[in-house]
Amino acid sequence: MYQAIASPQGDKFIVARPGARKGMHIPHIMYKELSDAVADRQTVPGWLVDAARQAWGIDLAGCPTERTVLVRPLTSLNYSRATWEINKGCNFNCEHRYLAERKFEGLSREEKDRLLFMLRDAGVLWLQFTGGEPTIDRDFAHSYRTAYGLGMLIKAAKEAGVPLELALIVTKHNAHEVEAMRDLAEEYAYTYTEYANISPTYDGKPEPLAAQAPGFLDKSTVFKGCPAGHAFFHVDPHGFATMCKVGRENPVNLMAEGLDGLLRLPAIADAEMLRSGGCSGCRLSATCRVCRPLAKAYQEAKAPLNTYCQHGNGDHIT
Ligand code: SF4
Ligand code: SF4
Repeated sequence: MYQAIASPQGDKFIVARPGARKGMHIPHIMYKELSDAVADRQTVPGWLVDAARQAWGIDLAGCPTERTVLVRPLTSLNYSRATWEINKGCNFNCEHRYLAERKFEGLSREEKDRLLFMLRDAGVLWLQFTGGEPTIDRDFAHSYRTAYGLGMLIKAAKEAGVPLELALIVTKHNAHEVEAMRDLAEEYAYTYTEYANISPTYDGKPEPLAAQAPGFLDKSTVFKGCPAGHAFFHVDPHGFATMCKVGRENPVNLMAEGLDGLLRLPAIADAEMLRSGGCSGCRLSATCRVCRPLAKAYQEAKAPLNTYCQHGNGDHIT
C-alpha cells in the first residue's frame, strides 16, 4: 500500500494519505519533483519527509519514492470528484431515499473495471460509492480494491481503517432523537453532516417528502451555485455520466463514448442549471434556496411550494 498519493486536483496539486483527513497543497514544482523522484528511483524528498511527519506522524526518510508515493498523472480532463452508483439494488427501504429505481442491475465486473480506469483517467481522486446499497453489490469489494489501487480515496467503514463521515438524515420519525444521533456520530465518525431538508426522488416522485420533520426545514440558505458537471460528476450503474445525482438529463454513455463524452458534460450542466421550465421568468431566483435540477424534482413531485420555493403560496410561475 502506498503511504501517500500525489495528485492534480483542479488547478492545484495535493498530497493525501489514504485514511487520513489531513492533506497538503503543493506547488507544481514539488509535484514535478515527486514525479521525477519516482522515475529516477530516488528516495522521498526531504520536504515530504518533514511534512508527512508533521501531518500524519509517519517517517518516510530513506523510503523509495516509487513504492511510497503514488504520483497520479496530469489528465486532460479536470475532474477531481465523482460519485458512482455501483448498482440500483437495495436491501431496505429508507423513507427519505431520493433514488427512484430499485431493481438490482448494473455493469459486469469487467465493465466496472473499465469504468474505474476511465474515472482515474478523468482525474478523479475522490470517489464516493453509492447505490442502491453499494455494499450488497457482489463486486463491491473488488471494485473498492481496484479504485483504491488506482489511487482513488473513498469513504468506507471505520473498521476498515478509513475515517468515517456520517450523514445524519433527520426525518419526522427520528427528529426527537437528533441529540442522540449527534452523540452517536461523534463517537463513531470523524465528522458528520446533518440533512433535514427532505427532497423528492430525482425523477420527481413525492413519496420521500412525507418524511419531512416539521421545524427542521432550513429556509435560510440561498443557493450560491454549484460546480456539478465541471468539477465533479455522477455515474449510474450502467456507466452513464451526468452532472450529479439529481441532474440527470442528457446522460453521457461512458462505456460507448469513452472519456471524450465527458467533454460535453460542462455544457450539459450549464443548460440544466438555467432557470427554465417551472422556474422560467422567476423574479426571485437570486434568493432561491435550490438549484434548478432540485427545483425541477420538487415541481414534478408537486411538493408544497413552501418546502423549497421563494414564492411560497404566492405567485409561482408554471
Ligand atoms: S442537486 Fe444541485 S446543488 Fe446538488 S450537486 Fe446537483 S446541481 Fe449541485
Ligand atoms: S424561487 Fe421557486 S420559481 Fe424561483 S427559481 Fe427558485 S424554485 Fe424556481
